[in-house]
Amino acid sequence: MPELPEVQTMVNDLRRAVVGRRISFVWSDLPKRKLPELDGLAGARIEAVSRRGKNILFLLSRSGKKFLFVVHPRMTGHFLLGRWALSKNSRPRPLAPSGPLAEKVNSYLHLILAFADGGMLGLSDARKFSKLLFGPEKEVSALEYFGGLGPDALSPSLTLPEFRRRIPKNKPIKAVLLDQAIVSGIGNIYSDEILYAAGIDPRRRAAELTEEEAGRIYKAMRLILREAVKVRGTSFSDFRDLRGRRGGYGERRLVYGLSNTPCRRCRTPIVSIKIGGRTSSFCPVCQK
Ligand SMILES: [Zn+2]
Repeated sequence: MPELPEVQTMVNDLRRAVVGRRISFVWSDLPKRKLPELDGLAGARIEAVSRRGKNILFLLSRSGKKFLFVVHPRMTGHFLLGRWALSKNSRPRPLAPSGPLAEKVNSYLHLILAFADGGMLGLSDARKFSKLLFGPEKEVSALEYFGGLGPDALSPSLTLPEFRRRIPKNKPIKAVLLDQAIVSGIGNIYSDEILYAAGIDPRRRAAELTEEEAGRIYKAMRLILREAVKVRGTSFSDFRDLRGRRGGYGERRLVYGLSNTPCRRCRTPIVSIKIGGRTSSFCPVCQK
């Protein structure tokens, strides 16, 4: 599932690739109940691309009015830049028959924005769980949907005292890091990596953490997320960048998905348990 580094990688790429371009038409085979009314996208110009938590926000203008198109990629959604042949009865086919866009993970195109200059932006989403919103800018940005998001994990306003203040006392720290209402942007992969780097057992109740331990988690959170953005995220699952290429963090990870392999520090096998319904991998010796 894309987390902050993957979504930020998409946003960084999109800013360079699509800002200033005009949309000529929208193609989608998503069922109507999943799709907001997107007719208004045709003729609109993309003015800016930004991120709120794991949401990608396209600011658009058409006839002097501002609109927002929001995509939450959920489990398997990712954007691709390319050109596809569109027909009624088959999936879009990339016009370039080889290269990253021909990879299976990039073939689940369910939404395509075609630009007036001939290029296309596709949303590949094998599970079709992406959440899409579209409407006048003021209406969309005022939605309760955004009101529930906590400060961004990399936001300058999320200082260490603010981070400590937001941590609820009675929850395991793993569940705290996953809760988008407390801090937004972190999912299963980076919460495991953050707690390993900080040397904290994911089951620890936030109330038991000392000031020094909370500080270690905060520092690890900033460091790991920034490093992951730098290497363009993790492609452990479906995430690919705008050109269909993998991110580099998967090879650097030290605990996530590495159950039963020896810890890099102490050689004890990494264990996986469920915390709040989510799998959590950690070293039982290094993480206290
Ligand atoms: Zn260890």
